[in-house]
Amino acid sequence: QAKAKGKASQQIFDSRMYTQAIVRLQMETDLRRAIERREFLLYYQPIICLKTRKVSGLEALIRWEHPSRGLLLPGEFLPIAQDSDLMSHIDIWVLREACLQLKAWQDKNKLDDAIFMSTNLSVHNFLQEDITEKISDILVETGVSGHCLELEITEDSIIRNPSQVNSILNRLKHQNIKFSIDDFGTGYSSLSYLHQFSVDSLKIDRSFIQGIAPQPSSLSNLQIANTIIQLAENLQLSVIAEGIETLEQLSILEDLDCTYGQGYYFSRPLPADAALNFLTYCQQSG
Ligand code: C2E
Ligand code: MG
Ligand code: MG
Ligand code: MG
Repeated sequence: QAKAKGKASQQIFDSRMYTQAIVRLQMETDLRRAIERREFLLYYQPIICLKTRKVSGLEALIRWEHPSRGLLLPGEFLPIAQDSDLMSHIDIWVLREACLQLKAWQDKNKLDDAIFMSTNLSVHNFLQEDITEKISDILVETGVSGHCLELEITEDSIIRNPSQVNSILNRLKHQNIKFSIDDFGTGYSSLSYLHQFSVDSLKIDRSFIQGIAPQPSSLSNLQIANTIIQLAENLQLSVIAEGIETLEQLSILEDLDCTYGQGYYFSRPLPADAALNFLTYCQQSG
């Protein structure tokens, strides 16, 4: 009987695995068509200067309007893209789209050209030989100046290909493009790369920010946030706190002299129209 039971559960297991594999395969097929079918879109989340309360920049975040499953978040499809050759195409699409949007706002809506656009670059892009040319071409094509662009990379991508990343960073630096380290504090960081690589800012991962308040057990998160802010200051880098959700978290970060912040407290990521309204409103009233 035990043997029969074992066999039955084996079958259930197999069929579940099979279903998962089919779903994944279908997603990958859908993903391959998504760019040409124009199913991707960008949401924009404001990055706020905590001193002036004005918008300093916007982070472009991808969404997928799936034909049958509705609006999907990156966590639901980027892992599949990352396992294939799709990721680099997606990031390049995002970069072009974000630059086109920024340029349109600058031209039509007289957006201050101190406001930057930030996009995420996956580790896969650092394996492409021609990534710097692709990025430069997009700037030329869209007419966006390098100083208006910030690229977010993770500690992971730096650690995996240090020399390649270094040469890419240096080449793009010539065009005044800025770099930030995303989710800072969660990776296997080595302090030595921080001054060795020409990055401009650190984004404190939201897990630390959400841990600083209101829980009483949050002292170590507070210390981590504080340490990252001090580190950034010592290395003359800017620092952005990710995932600020409450006034309490914001006040603590202001006390710690954190320069920039991003999070639901200020705004969720917004579709382009709503992001423009937010920008206009904030630039008027601060
Ligand atoms: P990320 O770059 O660290 O982006 C911040 C994520 O935190 C976004 O999730 C944003 O919606 C979310 N967030 C912002 N403020 C808050 C807050 O106050 N509370 C909470 N709970 N969450 C907040 P999203 O849009 O789901 O993106 C998740 C991740 O997917 C991003 O993390 C980034 O790593 C990746 N991603 C998104 N778009 C792209 C893209 O175009 N290319 C690449 N390579 N990765 C992307
Ligand atoms: Mg990011
Ligand atoms: Mg992040
Ligand atoms: Mg994050």
